[in-house]
Amino acid sequence: CGIVGYIGTQQAAPLLLEGLARLEHRGYDSAGLAVLGSGLRVAKKAGRVRDLGADLPKRFTGKAGIGHTRWATHGAANDLNAHPHVDAKGDVAVVHNGIIDNAATVRQQLTDDGVDLASDTDSEVLAHLIARSSADTLEERVAEALAAIEGTYGIAVLHADFPDRIVVARNGSPLIIGVGDKEMHVASDLGALVRYTTTVAHLDDGEMATLTATGFTTYRHDLTRIAREAEHVDVDP
Ligand code: GLU
Repeated sequence: CGIVGYIGTQQAAPLLLEGLARLEHRGYDSAGLAVLGSGLRVAKKAGRVRDLGADLPKRFTGKAGIGHTRWATHGAANDLNAHPHVDAKGDVAVVHNGIIDNAATVRQQLTDDGVDLASDTDSEVLAHLIARSSADTLEERVAEALAAIEGTYGIAVLHADFPDRIVVARNGSPLIIGVGDKEMHVASDLGALVRYTTTVAHLDDGEMATLTATGFTTYRHDLTRIAREAEHVDVDP
């Protein structure tokens, strides 16, 4: 339903919680976030953003993170089905908006290969597919996972082995990049970004992006680069 992400020089958790609260108008049944500091940490729960706990920023330190508000389509609204979803080792965290049409088939393939699925969602397969890829770069691993699924998505991916970046991708579910000073944001709604920056870049369907603390690059799902200028948006205060 809603996605936020941050990478930069500040602690990610308070910014993600604030961004998630700004997505509340969309409606949701569960919320969660992942922060990458010394290791990847995930908190997720059915219920409100505030149910994640006021003490969460103290426990979750790190300057990169992703967050999600869920509107369940596949699997009940419970803690296990909330996003982010992680792989068995806990190296990869994924948040997903949209619907993966061939999730049942991919879930079965993963199960046949000995992967334990922790949730009933369509989204979880992405975390396992990315974790199983042996490609050199995170971008290639995400592209490989996306090639195995059909459906609609806006996704944001954190990987403990690639701590300097967040990889995002869009197909039918909006994602907007917010450009700050030595920090980058991403969100599914402009409203979750404008508090931090009014310099934004839109992703189109079939596009991916890499965010680092110092900038962003955009490319197609076949990883060919696309030039994309960030632009200023006027917003009502
Ligand atoms: N299909 C996913 C799920 O049910 C994502 C739903 C959403 O967009 O929030 O978990």
